[in-house]
Amino acid sequence: MKSDCIVLGAGIIGVCAAIHLARRGHDVTLVDRRPPGEETSFGNAGLIQREGVHPRAFPRNLSKLLVYGFNQRADMVYHLSALPGLVPFLARYWWYSHPRRYQEIVRAYAPLIGASITEHNDLIAAADAASLVVKEGWYQLLRSPKARDESFAEADLLAKEFGVGRENLDGQQMAAREPRLTVDLAGAVHWTDPWTINDPHALVEAYFRYFQQLGGRFKHGDATTLTASGGGWRVDTEDGPVEAAQALIALGPWSGPFTRRLGYRLPLAVKRGYHMQYRQPEGEPLRHWILDWEPGYLLAPMARGIRLTTGVEFAPLDTPATPVQIERAETVARQLFPIGQRIDPKPWLGSRPATADMLPIIGPAPRHPALWFAFGHAHHGLTLGPATGRLIAELMGGETPFINATPFRADRF
Ligand SMILES: Cc1cc2nc3c(=O)[nH]c(=O)nc-3n(C[C@H](O)[C@H](O)[C@H](O)COP(=O)(O)OP(=O)(O)OC[C@H]3O[C@@H](n4cnc5c(N)ncnc54)[C@H](O)[C@@H]3O)c2cc1C
Repeated sequence: MKSDCIVLGAGIIGVCAAIHLARRGHDVTLVDRRPPGEETSFGNAGLIQREGVHPRAFPRNLSKLLVYGFNQRADMVYHLSALPGLVPFLARYWWYSHPRRYQEIVRAYAPLIGASITEHNDLIAAADAASLVVKEGWYQLLRSPKARDESFAEADLLAKEFGVGRENLDGQQMAAREPRLTVDLAGAVHWTDPWTINDPHALVEAYFRYFQQLGGRFKHGDATTLTASGGGWRVDTEDGPVEAAQALIALGPWSGPFTRRLGYRLPLAVKRGYHMQYRQPEGEPLRHWILDWEPGYLLAPMARGIRLTTGVEFAPLDTPATPVQIERAETVARQLFPIGQRIDPKPWLGSRPATADMLPIIGPAPRHPALWFAFGHAHHGLTLGPATGRLIAELMGGETPFINATPFRADRF
């Protein structure tokens, strides 16, 4: 079968890219070994982080590093056996997190994050997915005066420099918004711009149905069968080979191993994360997305119940789940809010595809003509799906991109 473009990977990034290519009149075949949206894009926290101009930097403060070194926290853990393999990545991550380099990264990132809501808005309307969206922002809960003062200062800076919407609340104001909180807080930042999604998997499915309405095709197949063919690309699927002039790699956390087979040595790693879902309590439910900032976990009132998501686990992509962060976070969460019984039989595990410089990779493959990359969105893949999809489709079609795409090119490494 012939196509104009093959998109490998049907997570939020691949589906959004496929939509934008199809909208531009390309004949698109989307290929995945699983149905759309069943991997990392399935179980995230549902935040469209318009405020997320500051990507997660590596801590450069020695006392913080020592605390993480003990490996007892809920927000970041690591597999000791994985550390030797991770050192090159972590060293570069640390290097890029230097305040001067970090400021440049923030400036490059801001326009992409700035487009997150408008680009989702476009696709949500087209995909008739408004019922999945809550437009009330999210709350960053601050237990100590120190965390409150630091977070208020950062919120003020983001408001001033990037026009991010926020309200700085004291403990009582926050308690009035979420009456069943059982901890006295020093304050909270209400990030007012972000939207939240009450079923992230359903959103990918809705976007995917819209892609099909545009005439897009989906095939089950293994991306590792991709080969150069007649100036373009060919991949084997369950329905036979598909050939196309261009191919896009959107394999999320599997993009690292995949591009290594093609000879690339990109500084990629995975930041694994877990979720568990709980019943809402009797009576007054959890109303808002709340991040318990200092312990480092999030509670989200999703369609099926309260979803607790964890911070980062540094561990190899394919090693078995070790959900200690769920146990630790659940203990703290039960002291904050009366979450009900567990709903899921076991914790869900996903792997955020992360780059050392905290920027996604979006653009041409440096050494393979007609091959394109769109991966490495780490903590912000849901946020950036539609903006990335538009950007890569514009680049693949030779259009002038809507923002400067140079900082996201793979050949920056
Ligand atoms: C706990 C947690 C909470 C998060 N919360 C948020 C949040 O609130 N907001 C936010 O913006 N982001 C969040 N994220 C990050 C976000 O979920 C990811 O950045 C995003 O889902 C990555 O999307 P993707 O399309 O790149 O990858 P994926 O969704 O993993 O898609 C990759 C696809 O490639 C396919 N694939 C892989 N290998 C092959 C192969 N050989 N052949 C065929 N197909 C293959 C897979 O089946 C998969 O469907 C969170 C992540 C985690 C883990």
